[in-house]
Amino acid sequence: MDVISTTHEMSAWTAARRMSGASVGFVPTMGALHDGHLSLVRASQATQDATAVSIFVNPAQFDDPDDYALYPRTFEEDLALCERAGVDAVFAPSPAQIWQPGATTRVDPGPIGDVLEGAHRPGHFAGVATVVVKLLHIVDPDSAYFGAKDYQQVAVIRRVVGDLDMGHRIVACPTIREHDGLAMSSRNARLGSDARRIAAVLHRSLTAAALLHRGGCRDRRTLEDAARDTLAAEPGVDIDYVALRSPDTLDEFVDGSDHAVMLVAARVDGVRLIDNLVLSEWTGD
Ligand code: AMP
Repeated sequence: MDVISTTHEMSAWTAARRMSGASVGFVPTMGALHDGHLSLVRASQATQDATAVSIFVNPAQFDDPDDYALYPRTFEEDLALCERAGVDAVFAPSPAQIWQPGATTRVDPGPIGDVLEGAHRPGHFAGVATVVVKLLHIVDPDSAYFGAKDYQQVAVIRRVVGDLDMGHRIVACPTIREHDGLAMSSRNARLGSDARRIAAVLHRSLTAAALLHRGGCRDRRTLEDAARDTLAAEPGVDIDYVALRSPDTLDEFVDGSDHAVMLVAARVDGVRLIDNLVLSEWTGD
């Protein structure tokens, strides 16, 4: 496995693979890797000849300096996991490699980046969009793999890559969950044992709405109330938002429509967690 720290070497790595006719898949991450990240690696390996993973905690997407400082960093373990998973290259640049002094350009994804997560974390999606555009330019893969766990992020990236004619194929992969339904996340490592138990309520809130949806309910307020009431019944959960939206655009859900994604964000013991479920695709119980 090649471990690469400069943008120049990373671009040369992909160019060399392409010269020999190989396709390249790319999995951008912020490290503290878990099975959710590794599922993206496996998705890439299933169809691409070579797979590169980036590990970069992007300061530009954190609106809260404490959140950036506290973000888990487990670089040596991450390298070992990548090696074992058969990753071909890890790109681990320093912040100075990515953010050259004096750089001021930002990619603004427009209204899709201003709602939900964007409303609660001002500037977050400009930070995400800017770094993803930079990484896609540097790595220049055929396909890039993202988790549906960060639903709005995938929507923003599809928008940006389409709007800027970048041509990279963006693949969304299903959310990987713990046994109690909690979506795997690097942030889960910051939950104490009580908070970890309580955090499973996020997924329960989504399935409460999904059950109603399966029963034929197509009323936004009723579906949102089911999710919100489930969250509110668990002490120690601080709700940021519960929102039923149209799955492709994240526009307001139109009552009566079959297709809907429920998105929730809440703090459990000070740790901010997000989750979502496309109600029309839900097959669990
Ligand atoms: P992060 O390191 O949190 O920036 O995540 C890197 C990529 O892994 C993003 O595309 C995430 O959506 C994806 N990811 C994170 N958690 C999960 C999960 N539980 N299941 C699937 N993908 C995930």
